[in-house]
Parts: sequence; structure tokens; C-alpha cells
Amino acid sequence: MGNTTFAIIKPDAVKNNYTGKIYNHILDSGFDILCAKLIKMTRAQAEGFYGIHKDKPFFKELTTFMSSGKCMVLALSKESAVSEWRKVIGATNPEEAEDGTIRKLYATSLGENAVHGSDSDENAKIEIAFFFSDIEIIQNK
Ligand code: UDP
Ligand code: MG
Repeated sequence: MGNTTFAIIKPDAVKNNYTGKIYNHILDSGFDILCAKLIKMTRAQAEGFYGIHKDKPFFKELTTFMSSGKCMVLALSKESAVSEWRKVIGATNPEEAEDGTIRKLYATSLGENAVHGSDSDENAKIEIAFFFSDIEIIQNK
């Protein structure tokens, strides 16, 4: 298992002023933040990032939402980062997320669910490269 994952604090959470709370949650869960920045995605960028879901019925709604406002993108480091971060964020549907998880605490709905987390080491690498250049990433060595 790799030790890096990619996260987004999504537009609903930024709008609802949960950025600071979620940032603390990340640190309190033992992640090291390798880089972070506030961005506003274009529709084309959101479509590119979520290309894996392009045939899903929720694709249009998802990419409209993800390009609707500011979000924070982050690269996170911890042992087994991908699975550890997925544990901290909880189930995709906040109604099914366990107590204490970020989605349970801060999500708005199934679509507007506060945070993103990579689903594999391979995708974490691709997603980090989508938003960050090598020079932006603090190398944890
Ligand atoms: N999503 C949605 N409706 C669905 C499933 C997913 O709007 O029925 C959105 C939701 O924002 C989710 C994102 O699409 O976080 C990506 O879906 P995925 O299944 O990859 O969930 P995740 O990996 O984010 O838990
Ligand atoms: Mg996913």
C-alpha cells in the first residue's frame, strides 16, 4: 500500500465554512499535508477529473456541482493513506456514513458530500498529477 492520497474539500463544504474544521480533521487523523490550494474548477476540468464517471446518470449534476464554487485540493501522506482517508471520510452517501466521519458531520447530500478521496494508489497518483506540479509537492523524505 502507498502512503499518499488525494483529497478535495468540495464546494458545498467550502461554502458552508467547513474548510477549517475539515482541515483540522485531516491533521487530527494523523495525515501530513504535502500540498494544498484553493481553486475553482472549470466545467472542463471537473469533467476531466471525473472522467471515470462519464457514463453515469449523475455525471452532469456532479460536474456542475464541482465547478460551481471554490474547493480545496490536497495531497495527503500517511501509511496506507488511501484506505485510511476513506475511513475518515465515510460512505459516499452521508446517510450511510458512520458517526464521526467527515461526510456524516459535514455533507449536504449524496451528491454534495463535502469531500473526495482517491479509491486506489494508482488513482491517487493520477489525481495528484491532475492538480499539482512536482514543484508544489513537499517531498516527505
Ligand atoms: N455521486 C452522486 N450520485 C451517486 C453517486 C455518486 O452524485 O449516486 C457523486 C458524489 O459526489 C460522489 C461522486 O459522485 O462523491 C463520485 O462517486 P463515487 O462512487 O466515486 O463515490 P466516492 O468515491 O466519492 O465515495
Ligand atoms: Mg470515487
